[in-house]
Amino acid sequence: MKTDKWKVIVIKDPRLRRARKSFRTLLRLAYLTEKERLRQLQDLYRQMDIKGRKLTPSQRRREIMLSRLKDELSSAYSSSILWCSMGSLCESSKKKNIPTHEVSLDVDMAWNPVDKRWCCSACYNYHFGTKDAQLYYRRGIEKMRAKDKALDDYLTEKFGLDRQLTEEEGRVLDEFIKEYDDFEQELKKVKDIEMRKALIEKFLAKGNIIN
Ligand SMILES: [Zn+2]
Repeated sequence: MKTDKWKVIVIKDPRLRRARKSFRTLLRLAYLTEKERLRQLQDLYRQMDIKGRKLTPSQRRREIMLSRLKDELSSAYSSSILWCSMGSLCESSKKKNIPTHEVSLDVDMAWNPVDKRWCCSACYNYHFGTKDAQLYYRRGIEKMRAKDKALDDYLTEKFGLDRQLTEEEGRVLDEFIKEYDDFEQELKKVKDIEMRKALIEKFLAKGNIIN
């Protein structure tokens, strides 16, 4: 999906819904089968490693390639219509008391153009259902991305990519990482959406190393 607009895809006809469910179940099975196949292949190399048989350079390359394929597969899955991107915060999962990976099989899904991912219609209504909420989210994410880029630029400029950090630089970075981890932990505990917004604002406004 390429559109830059929020879009909820609703199917009302029960037969069409059933067909959609079968199709999504099939896609999910294909995903799980491929994931398992890659895992088993990778396991062969791991076992060799554990038994102390050194991998040849070409085996090592193949192992790295397998791990890349696995990452690509997971990322394709998590940005597909088979996955509600709200993850553990998913409203359908909570309401229907089913695991998040089963949510999408039988619900209408909404396209989130900011993340370029899907979420279920319940999450859409809860988090992004109004124009204000959509605008707020877009601004927040853009701010975060700008911050990320600023951090990347800062790190590249200040430390370069090809040298060891000095002790002082390392200390400053460790402090920032700790600060960010604490913030993330705090955020995980808060379920109320307004309180989450306030926490994110507070962290963004805080004077840290990239300000
Ligand atoms: Zn959801």
